[in-house]
Amino acid sequence: MSIRVLAVASECAPLVKTGGLADVVGALPAALARQGIQVTTLLPGYPKVTAALQGGQAVHEMPDLFGGPATLLRGKAAGLDLLVLDAPHLYARAGDPYLAADGVEWGDNGIRFAALGAVASLVAGGLPGAAFDLVHAHDWQAGLTPAYLRFAGPGRRPVLFTVHNLAFQGKFPLSLFPRLGLPAEALSVQGIEYYGTIGFLKAGLWYANRISTVSPTYAAEIATPDLGMGLDGLLRGRGADVSGILNGLDTADFDPAKDPRLPARFSAADPAPRARNKAELQKRMGLPQDPNTLLFGFVGRMTWQKGVDLLLTAVPTMMAQGAQLVLLGTGEWGLEEGSRWVSAAFSGRVGTQIGFDEALARLIYAGSDVILVPSRFEPCGLAQMAALRYGALPLVAHVGGLVDSVVDANEAALALGMGNGFHFAPVTAEMLQAAVLRVTRLWRDKPLWKKLQANALTSDVSWDRSAARYAALFREMVAGAG
Ligand code: ADP
Repeated sequence: MSIRVLAVASECAPLVKTGGLADVVGALPAALARQGIQVTTLLPGYPKVTAALQGGQAVHEMPDLFGGPATLLRGKAAGLDLLVLDAPHLYARAGDPYLAADGVEWGDNGIRFAALGAVASLVAGGLPGAAFDLVHAHDWQAGLTPAYLRFAGPGRRPVLFTVHNLAFQGKFPLSLFPRLGLPAEALSVQGIEYYGTIGFLKAGLWYANRISTVSPTYAAEIATPDLGMGLDGLLRGRGADVSGILNGLDTADFDPAKDPRLPARFSAADPAPRARNKAELQKRMGLPQDPNTLLFGFVGRMTWQKGVDLLLTAVPTMMAQGAQLVLLGTGEWGLEEGSRWVSAAFSGRVGTQIGFDEALARLIYAGSDVILVPSRFEPCGLAQMAALRYGALPLVAHVGGLVDSVVDANEAALALGMGNGFHFAPVTAEMLQAAVLRVTRLWRDKPLWKKLQANALTSDVSWDRSAARYAALFREMVAGAG
């Protein structure tokens, strides 16, 4: 049976991206198509999205959507079937989807994303030429979708709500409530009220028929007070309605044999050209071009979550072992400053670039020997998967999706010829330093390193297995709703 899914999200690669959410929303439709699931994705009409839409046709007009006229456009972009909510008063703003030019959140984000949820609920019931069996809402920006659907009356569609990061909760003042058009009973602890605010993420978790998150380990972690961020009680209450499905990587885009951004392309069958990428990376970041020097890399948001402070405290240990380090990212000012500082303090051995740079990110994955992912929590993480795909061994904190996607090269694994990276736990500076020493020892054993790199390059980081799990869940939900 073919199932028609309406996906609802605020980001979708390559059209609009601030993080891993976009990668997943962009890659899942093609992977699901191979499972007989047809996905149409509803996105806000940011300028970048409306500009990319090919042959967009108006399928529904709304004279007053939360304070202005809106048109629902249907068309294709980047190979995706899209519905775009063209509402200039809400989305026709330059730059970041959530932040004004001064870096502060738009004051009307509550309304901007309530509109997305309300329209999703309207569309789910069907439009001329477009019917759906199920709704798949992503993260807090689509969190009101299940709430609107719950009160949409008979014939409403079941909804899966996927949490990509529980830390982003979409909380707004209670004064927003009268504008939402939801019935009074929704403003309750058994509804969208959340510690004296309106919680969009909480609403999604409360009203969705089923919940998923992006790795099995994170699904277990968020039901605990340590990592539940205030929502662990609710999640425990939902019990078996919560599943963990590991993200995949878009392996057509992340393909070292075809990536046009790389100076040298390579594959598991022919890894030798990879050495040229390391040399180019060393040159670009102002480091001596030495194939025998262990090169650590980091790509990601420079935030507390990503453990960049832990990484910075491990730099002297790396340097004492004669290693090099390259850092690419943007984020908190203090961590950006710290990264610049270690570059200056260990000039010619540490290279830092602050900014978002896809081409350099690929070169770091394709040229580093080890990619550091010392996250304090990590719902899934894509950096370690990109590292595996490009033959850099991930050194990861033993949390969340990092546990589910990296096999630690400990003695037992090595005895079986397994292992494609390294774990450290607990997530402290001391244990990261100890892991750096362990990695350095293994680096000296060249045949062993070659084997671990081959294991990384042949690891299955594709969407196939996970798409099959989403498809099975969708089928179960549609059957249950019938
Ligand atoms: P997040 O929590 O930020 O979503 P993920 O690891 O799930 O973390 O996904 C981050 C994605 O964004 C990865 O594909 C990573 O390579 C990319 N990325 C992060 N920071 C940068 C940057 N500064 N430049 C280029 N790519 C980046």
